[in-house]
Amino acid sequence: MATMESLIGLVNRIQRACTALGDYGGGDQAFSSLWDALPSVAVVGGQSSGKSSVLESIVGRDFLPRGSGIVTRRPLVLQLQKIEDGKEYAEFGHLPRRRFSDFASVRKEIEDETDRITGKTKQISPVPIHLSIYSPNVVNLTLIDLPGLTKVAVEGQAQTIVEDIENMVRSYVEKPNCIILAISPANQDIATSDAIKIAREVDPSGDRTFGVLTKLDLMDKGTNAVDVLEGRSYRLQHPWVGIVNRSQADINKNVDMMAARRKEREYFATSPDYGHLASKMGAEYLAKLLSRHLESVIRARIPSITSLINKSIDELEAEMDHLGRPIALDAGAQLYTILELCRAFDKIFKEHLDGGRPGGDRIYGVFDNQLPAALKKLPFDRHLSVQNVRKIVSEADGYQPHLIAPEQGYRRLIEGSLNYFRGPAEASVDAVHLVLKELVRKSIGECQELKRFPTLQSTIAGAANESLERFREESKKTVVRLVDMESSYLTVDFFRKLPQEVEKAGNPGGNPRDNTPASQNIDRYAEAHFRRIGSNVSSYVYMISETLRNTIPKAVVYCQVKEAKQNLLNYFYTQIGRREGKQLSELLDEDPALMDRRLQCAKRLELYKKARDEVDSVAWVR
Ligand code: GDP
Ligand code: MG
Repeated sequence: MATMESLIGLVNRIQRACTALGDYGGGDQAFSSLWDALPSVAVVGGQSSGKSSVLESIVGRDFLPRGSGIVTRRPLVLQLQKIEDGKEYAEFGHLPRRRFSDFASVRKEIEDETDRITGKTKQISPVPIHLSIYSPNVVNLTLIDLPGLTKVAVEGQAQTIVEDIENMVRSYVEKPNCIILAISPANQDIATSDAIKIAREVDPSGDRTFGVLTKLDLMDKGTNAVDVLEGRSYRLQHPWVGIVNRSQADINKNVDMMAARRKEREYFATSPDYGHLASKMGAEYLAKLLSRHLESVIRARIPSITSLINKSIDELEAEMDHLGRPIALDAGAQLYTILELCRAFDKIFKEHLDGGRPGGDRIYGVFDNQLPAALKKLPFDRHLSVQNVRKIVSEADGYQPHLIAPEQGYRRLIEGSLNYFRGPAEASVDAVHLVLKELVRKSIGECQELKRFPTLQSTIAGAANESLERFREESKKTVVRLVDMESSYLTVDFFRKLPQEVEKAGNPGGNPRDNTPASQNIDRYAEAHFRRIGSNVSSYVYMISETLRNTIPKAVVYCQVKEAKQNLLNYFYTQIGRREGKQLSELLDEDPALMDRRLQCAKRLELYKKARDEVDSVAWVR
């Protein structure tokens, strides 16, 4: 059965765990609300009023930097955790897993860590230092040491320092769950106490304020603080506690804590002024008083703590859902997960092609605009110009010019023309390839389930692109073959239907009336002849162009688009089936940041669930 003691310990553990996970109290983190719901104790008071000294004597250990001037320059969140036995040690939030057993080095680390943020200056920082002390000699408490309130900025401090410190202190003590340890030095009039001033401001009823009077030993001879300690000067709900800490001279002489406590006990026991109050004075008594108060506060808060824990658990569960559940460890389940993810991607890719998602229409754009435009731009005018026709036809005939129709010349002209079609055919293949590649990229990006797995993402992208590359090769071969087929056997009918008449060149002997020389007439005859050949070839080529305009898209769709739709990841599937467990889990590697986040989430969840169980078991014990 859990006891109250263990409940306070539990609260401490939750706070410490929140700290370790980055949920600092007062921060803007999502879980700081739980931190804030748990009670803590903050010391407030003027500079050098003895705040750090009081904290030290509550803990029973020398570990805080003390002295005159501004010594405490960052908040110190101190968690005391009672352990049953064993050596006491301390741990810093910024140095997890390093155990300090020498408290002088704890003080040194506090000083160094303060300087790390503020530099060796007189400036302050609101970034807290987290310190946990585990010891058989402490009560379970969370204590916060704060910079002292001041009235003027000294050399080396910003003009706003007075306000800055006050705001920082207020940000801690205004939280309803903060128990205020208001430290006032006895050698100053209580009416001038900075601690009481700010405590009254944030806690007007005095419910959560404990008045502590230090430096009783430094009061002027002939005066005493009985009126304050007995609550007559300033009334608080809780009794005032008087304290005698070590003086600066004691500190300089290294008077140890045990000696100091003994001295304090003796002081009250033998004091003519405070003898009657001796049992309710001193640091040890203050520690017990605080611990008891904390118990009652926590008991009253159990319902709200429980509901906060439940809320945190709900939030964490939701975040876990969002992050995706952890991957199964056995190879079969991993393979299944990978195939599921591939299918999710493939589905999106298909939607892009078939419509539903945009992008597939760009393939039609290639067939409808790009290909016809490219065909139209082919330089047939130049290739079939009279000069070129004359050149090619004459060369084809060799030394024996043709008699009727230049068979060889026709064939060469047509072959030469058809070769031009390879360009647009291959360009269509490449253009569709680019569209498909872009759709793969898009689909990967749109596949929500894949987002977690960057490695698998790039593997799928790689496999898909490899397939597309293969499809492109195949498609290219096919369209080039289409063109080659056209040149390998010409459509004979087309030529049979051409008018067979031999060019009538008028009077070969020249025209006597217009005095045209015979050689000129022969030239004219030849030009008309070649022009006719050019135009015949041109209309044949046009016919082929029309055919290819229709057949190239068919080939491209058959070889690339249809394949991509049906077999994009087939090759990958055959490979993945042969992989070992380790390779599979490598594919399911997640983004490290995400894994980290999930791990943190899982840790918190475990912690909160344990906390809920413990709180439940305590709630029923009286
Ligand atoms: P803080 O600035 O409020 O944290 O005060 P410190 O704890 O650093 O103490 C400031 C100075 O006052 C130190 O030199 C302490 O030795 C001294 N001091 C604190 N409390 C007492 C006390 O009860 N009696 C005497 N004689 N000196 C004290
Ligand atoms: Mg201090």
